[in-house]
Amino acid sequence: MRLVFDGAALVSNWQALGWLSEPASAGAAVKADGYGLGARDVVARLSAAGCRDFFVAHWAEAQALAGLVDPARISVLHGIAPGEEALAKAIGAVPVLNSTDQIARWRSMGGGTCHVMIDTGMGRLGLDWREDVAGHCTGLDIDLCMSHLASADEDSAQNETQRLRFDEVRTGVSARRYSLANSAGIGLGSGYRYDCTRPGLALYGGVPCGALAGIINPVMRIETRVLQVRQMQAGDSIGYGATFTAPAAMRTATLSLGYADGFKRGLSGIGGFAHNGARLPLLGRVSMDLTCIDISAAPDLGEGDWITADFDLPAAEAATGISQYEWLTQIGRRFERIWVD
Ligand SMILES: *Cc1c(COP(=O)(O)O)cnc(C)c1O
Repeated sequence: MRLVFDGAALVSNWQALGWLSEPASAGAAVKADGYGLGARDVVARLSAAGCRDFFVAHWAEAQALAGLVDPARISVLHGIAPGEEALAKAIGAVPVLNSTDQIARWRSMGGGTCHVMIDTGMGRLGLDWREDVAGHCTGLDIDLCMSHLASADEDSAQNETQRLRFDEVRTGVSARRYSLANSAGIGLGSGYRYDCTRPGLALYGGVPCGALAGIINPVMRIETRVLQVRQMQAGDSIGYGATFTAPAAMRTATLSLGYADGFKRGLSGIGGFAHNGARLPLLGRVSMDLTCIDISAAPDLGEGDWITADFDLPAAEAATGISQYEWLTQIGRRFERIWVD
């Protein structure tokens, strides 16, 4: 089993998001190990292409990028929790301060360049936009003043509400740069771009909104091998629960790939593979380590042959209801990982 990552597509997605973000510059959200692709592989390529701002959630994720980029270019979205002060100082990445407690902790550590998150309606992290945000931030050396959109991938009135709140509050906050948009936010138009955008999903081939369709290219391909070819008779069933019964004699293949690899059971009866232009549908349930397919349309396919999943993120989300974010971040750890370019 292997995941094949297209480095050129990763870079061209980032460049396309950068052009769309102009005059703002596009950074890159690389939390959760680069959405499952491998943060070091992603950061090395995007940094070489000119990306200057990288966003992780945890300090350990910043630490894992050691030696690749200047830590001053890495933002830690969760900020600083009690007990993390020494680690934060040692790593030297920049905290996103989310609360008055975090601001106080940063000041007591001696301060320095930081970022600040304002909650304009997401209701998760950040200084409440109705508070005295300007007062809380007085004297801080703020690089990015940011907020995060809750409904950017929907045509929702909440986007404009958040943008207006951000504008109202940010004017009182002295920062070098302002930032609001994630991937889908970039598609909302020039009013959302400010100085820096923070795409994640779309870098990796996810398409969160219609505005990015046709612009973003797939980055990840799932390949595996045929473990066994079988000749089924009419009436034979396949897999747990015997949910598929062969209506006639047919050739099937059993593949090394299952839900433990992030190839989720929700693809049962929906997913398929591709081989020399033929589509080979899944049969029965996806199990933990194995998946069965109909290979009637690929008579040359034999044991040991490599085969490619007919898989793309937007289609998988549409077919299963499992979000593109979950498909990526829950991809399995048993794959060999190969970067081309
Ligand atoms: C994860 C994250 C992003 C990236 O969002 P995408 O929807 O993946 O583009 C941007 N900003 C913040 C604060 C985030 O947590």
